[in-house]
Amino acid sequence: MSIKNNILYFDEQLRPTPCRLVAVSKTHPVEVIKEAYDAGHRLFGENKVQELIEKYALLPHDIAWHLIGHLQTNKVKYIAEFIDTIQSVDSLKLLMEINKRAEMLNRTTPINCMFQISIADEATKYGMTCQEAEAILQSDAYRAMKYIRITGVMGIATNTENENKLRSEFRNLRACFTRLKETFFAANDDFKEISMGMTSDWQLALEEGSTMIRVGSGIFGARDYSN
Ligand SMILES: *Cc1c(COP(=O)(O)O)cnc(C)c1O
Repeated sequence: MSIKNNILYFDEQLRPTPCRLVAVSKTHPVEVIKEAYDAGHRLFGENKVQELIEKYALLPHDIAWHLIGHLQTNKVKYIAEFIDTIQSVDSLKLLMEINKRAEMLNRTTPINCMFQISIADEATKYGMTCQEAEAILQSDAYRAMKYIRITGVMGIATNTENENKLRSEFRNLRACFTRLKETFFAANDDFKEISMGMTSDWQLALEEGSTMIRVGSGIFGARDYSN
């Protein structure tokens, strides 16, 4: 299957749903990303700042870039001008820096941010609990922020073929979304995304309410090294 055909396949699969595809292009060169772009795709995900800024410079600027990997506070400044969404917000400190950088640039559109919630059982390095996300939303610091907007939650499930386990993790993320929605965003349509599901588990994630699947190898083929 060509990259173009893969994009068209996902377009067709998702057309009857409200779910969107983030094409995860990490490790793949811009020529390959351009194939997906030429097939009409405009939403791409990268997990490293350096790689993202290099690709941003070389590709058309109507691409919506989503950062899906861990973001160090001291690197926010390199992407603040052009990033569409940071899916991997995992602390108030990081959120404050994102807001500050967007404000310094006087961005005309806020930076979309999503809370990365840890749902896998293995103690992964990044992500926070739903309670920690709630605490951020309750803080005065958050309320004062004018240059970010929280658009939803993101989670990475355990790397397993156990369907029940995957479903239960996706349900936990959805439950967190619902709780935050009801408590803080009942009247705010910006908060609407549940980013979950990758190449191996996107169908399950979709069944469990995903609004954004993040697919890499299923579009671009295997990566040379684990990433
Ligand atoms: C790499 C990555 C993906 C895509 O993984 P595939 O298995 O290649 O689809 C999705 N989400 C995150 C956070 C990633 O780092």
